[in-house]
Amino acid sequence: MSSVAESDLVRGWQFSLSQAVRDPAQLLERLQLPSNLLAELQQAQTDFPLLVPESYLQRIQPGNAADPLLLQVLPLGAEVNAVPDFVLDPVGDGAARRAPGMLHKYQGRALLIAHHSCAVHCRYCFRRHYPYDEEPKSLAAWEPALTEIAADSSLHEILLSGGDPLLLSDRRLFALIDQLEDIPHLRRLRIHSRLPIVLPDRVTRDFIQRLKSLRLRSYLVVHANHAQELTGDCATALEELVAAGIPVMNQAVLLKGVNDSVEALEELCERCVDLGVLPYYLHQLDRVQGAAHFEVPVSRGLELIAALRVRLPGYAVPRYVVEEKSAPSKTPLV
Ligand SMILES: *Cc1c(COP(=O)(O)O)cnc(C)c1O
Ligand code: SF4
Repeated sequence: MSSVAESDLVRGWQFSLSQAVRDPAQLLERLQLPSNLLAELQQAQTDFPLLVPESYLQRIQPGNAADPLLLQVLPLGAEVNAVPDFVLDPVGDGAARRAPGMLHKYQGRALLIAHHSCAVHCRYCFRRHYPYDEEPKSLAAWEPALTEIAADSSLHEILLSGGDPLLLSDRRLFALIDQLEDIPHLRRLRIHSRLPIVLPDRVTRDFIQRLKSLRLRSYLVVHANHAQELTGDCATALEELVAAGIPVMNQAVLLKGVNDSVEALEELCERCVDLGVLPYYLHQLDRVQGAAHFEVPVSRGLELIAALRVRLPGYAVPRYVVEEKSAPSKTPLV
């Protein structure tokens, strides 16, 4: 029994988050990468800093500058190049904002920006420029959104997103959920989180128990882009959620150099279903400023999906979609 492991257990996931790597020089050293990358990293991370939790770091192969997990978190010089059509708000979040923290785009469901930060900074993130400062940071600040939801009986489902909603403490998370549970026309709760993937400590027994005991039927949508993410403590956390009867789905983004091959996508989907996680969406990259170097042409995406359909059972093939401003749903790419 190591006393270090015991004290980590007591300190919990917030402690794990505090230990995440934020210093570019430390990242290069830990992963045995050439130190001449440092200047580029430092320049690229000024407005969206490097952030990688330890658990995720342990799933990256040292010495491999092309590691598919590393590429998702490594700031690159290409991010600072302006590219036409790659903009600050590619999906029209601003226009869909109905109350502080509340985005309403699609019939029957609304999304809450439940937390302003993440446990990892994915370089391709479509909300990397989102004005989180303007969104609620306390339960009281949710009042206008909760009033809107309560007044709109066409809403049956609330999505908690962000940022990452699971960065809220259980106390704050369930205080918000309690308010939603009191709204009679709501039937479902969906939590969109990357924490079970990048900071699996967050998936505590207590959290699972509380999620299970809600009136609202709850779904968890995680976000992994490569099979190598779904290993170690991440796999254990997902198995625990599934064993507790919580439906877990995965959404991935099609990313150049990360998962733009039939083999990588097939392995990702296989790994998901083996863990009891259903592949939900494969997103075409949103054209956000700083992420152009991740873009895979739609024509290539369609080829990949066609190949997956041949290799996998129907339920293991994700829906390939793109988010278009002011469309009434995600738009299927076929
Ligand atoms: C993607 C999204 C949803 C959920 O869409 P589903 O197709 O139901 O998964 C809901 N609200 C907003 C604002 C979204 O961007
Ligand atoms: S976890 Fe999600 S919201 Fe956060 S940086 Fe990554 S893609 Fe963006």
